[in-house]
Amino acid sequence: MWIFLNDRFVPREQAVVSVFDHGFLYGDGVYETLRSYGRRVFMLRKHLARLERSASHIGLEPPIPEKEWPGLLQEALERNNLEDAYLRITVSRGEGEIGLDPTLCPRPTVVIVAKPLPQYPAHLFDRGVSLALVSVRRNLPSALSPQIKSLNFLNNILAKQEAERAGAFDAVMLNAHGFLTECTTSNLFFVRDGRLCTPSPEAGILEGITREIIMLLAGEQAIPVEQGLYTPDVLRSAQECFLTNTTMEVMPVREIDKSSVGSSLPGPITTSLRSLFRASLSRFLE
Ligand code: PLP
Repeated sequence: MWIFLNDRFVPREQAVVSVFDHGFLYGDGVYETLRSYGRRVFMLRKHLARLERSASHIGLEPPIPEKEWPGLLQEALERNNLEDAYLRITVSRGEGEIGLDPTLCPRPTVVIVAKPLPQYPAHLFDRGVSLALVSVRRNLPSALSPQIKSLNFLNNILAKQEAERAGAFDAVMLNAHGFLTECTTSNLFFVRDGRLCTPSPEAGILEGITREIIMLLAGEQAIPVEQGLYTPDVLRSAQECFLTNTTMEVMPVREIDKSSVGSSLPGPITTSLRSLFRASLSRFLE
């Protein structure tokens, strides 16, 4: 396995980062998860723009010029002989003396990992996954904005642990005011009376790139799309529910807090958006 570290590709065993790296010490850094279909990357420019945005939110300047990322990602795929791959770019504050001040770190650390795409079992797509509404609240945007895809993922990890203890596949997190936000690594959609609903950015979510494509495709099908602030009761009375992210695409939800969603089989809007997403993929590959 070849990993890009700072300025070159190195074998996995040599891809090591200092114990003084502020990404390790403080979670000070950002990342992006991307995926390729064959060797073409899904929504590459949007992912790179989000990486730049996350970095700029924390005052971090990635040492790789934006135009060089596509070539490096391609090289990561080629060197590892991969098609249909999972790609992760990590940019941390870099190595520096202990202390919070970012100026202690003269150079950010950059890592690109490419590996075969983890496959979700087919039965999850056929039957749907279970969710639990957890007590861990999504970070307050004014404290640590969910728009920053940061290396500090404890908020989501605590929520995921709570969901696992409840025997669920993933957690639905509420914001500090009790409105729905998202799951630990995906955006949340549900259907009520033929309308596709999803928590708005105002609720405090990461604006997922798959989310954006799903809203676009729904609009093209004349399915009414609504973004808003929703309470858990609204979700509990939904006829359909699904999750979106880059690696899962569209994942149906079977039950929430052990109660079935709708008829509990993936509903018609979920099924048609999932098929449409797959059929339209070539429009979104770069
Ligand atoms: N929300 C969170 C918290 C995430 O971590 C992710 C992706 O990892 C998403 C939503 C979905 O984003 P995308 O569709 O861009 O993969």
